[in-house]
Amino acid sequence: MAPSLKKSGNVVIGVDIDNVLSNTDHVIRNLIEQEYGIVSRREQIIYWDYFKSLPITPEQEGVIFGLFHDHYCLQAPIIQFAQESLKLLSANYLIWLITSRPAKTNSLTKEWLNQHNIAYNNLIHSNNKIELFDTVKLLIEDNGKTAIDYVNKGVPVILFNCPWNTEHQHPMIFRVDNWHHALDTIADDQFRLKYLHQIV
Ligand SMILES: [Mg+2]
Repeated sequence: MAPSLKKSGNVVIGVDIDNVLSNTDHVIRNLIEQEYGIVSRREQIIYWDYFKSLPITPEQEGVIFGLFHDHYCLQAPIIQFAQESLKLLSANYLIWLITSRPAKTNSLTKEWLNQHNIAYNNLIHSNNKIELFDTVKLLIEDNGKTAIDYVNKGVPVILFNCPWNTEHQHPMIFRVDNWHHALDTIADDQFRLKYLHQIV
């Protein structure tokens, strides 16, 4: 059953794309295997940088992300229940997709979002996501450092549990394993009253 998500005017929820909507890690590790013959599991990616987690150089990581941004991002599988979740959230909130993918990926990113029928109001490419803290009332992310930056500005974060963000802890970081759990968090009356200033 869908959680109750009450009307909230123009509250902006910021939503990351890679590893929140799109299973980017799956594609990146497949490309690393294809290009360099290194087989890996998600659990091995315990640092944000692949070159720190796997035996590749920063330059090789750059090649892999180049391939991803130029072509393979279109092939990324969608994360389970992401489409349905954004549809539910968009009925009551403004959805700003905030990605650190470079602007050159804009067309492919929009194509992927359309293919997967993702509901959103705005798509922003930013390599400095904290610049949007004043607008975003809640951020949904997998980058632990970005999460810490936001909570330090007083903005709560729903952080998808990933091997690369385990050490980032804060009372305003709400960890979830999946989109069902994320929606349950937002649907909680106390959460919305406290953090989204909604009368519940
Ligand atoms: Mg991400």
